[in-house]
Amino acid sequence: MTMRVLVVEDDKEIRALIRASLSVEGFEVQTAVSVSEASALLKHDLPDVLVLDLGLPDGDGIELVREVRKQHGLPILVVSARHQEAQKIQLLDAGADDYLTKPFSVGELLARIRVALRHRGTTLTAAVTEYTLDDLSVDLSAHLVRCKGETLHLTKTEFKLLARLVRSSGKVVTHRQLLVDVWGDEFLEHTHYLRLYMAQLRAKIEDNPAEPRYLLTETGVGYRLAAM
Ligand code: CA
Repeated sequence: MTMRVLVVEDDKEIRALIRASLSVEGFEVQTAVSVSEASALLKHDLPDVLVLDLGLPDGDGIELVREVRKQHGLPILVVSARHQEAQKIQLLDAGADDYLTKPFSVGELLARIRVALRHRGTTLTAAVTEYTLDDLSVDLSAHLVRCKGETLHLTKTEFKLLARLVRSSGKVVTHRQLLVDVWGDEFLEHTHYLRLYMAQLRAKIEDNPAEPRYLLTETGVGYRLAAM
């Protein structure tokens, strides 16, 4: 089955580059240059993946994300410039799956699309409950975390935090999403909890917590468990 991608990007060169590289990979590519053109297209025809540039001539795309997310589960990848960090977080919280900061490589874009499609595919059947990468393996249903062959003892909160990242492995999870899902709505402002527990988790899992290979920091946005 051919996967269909809608690329919303007003920059002609980037649009052409994304179109060419996704076509080579076998995707059927449709393009739009503005929020209004994209919403018009989406009303008629739903793609399998949406790639959305943040800086568009008629808006920042957040309404588009909300609109699509209300009705559909398709993966949404946001492409942004470095200075658009605050908007990027809003978009992720509104339901976008992941983001790429310009300039990005085509390989990165494809990898993110694959992860997002895999997640969307699996959430329809069963949630991701097992994670294995190099020395680390996590089995959520058995409540088991192993590192270099040894069972790790995590506190309840450390396990909840790791489990939340496993369920979204390979994808960025915002500070807000982590605080709400692990601690609850009323802890939204307590970002220091997150920093503290992340430091504890890294100390238990990482060889060098200062240069993590599993629990990655997405500066100003959140955290990402390295893709399997
Ligand atoms: Ca743009």
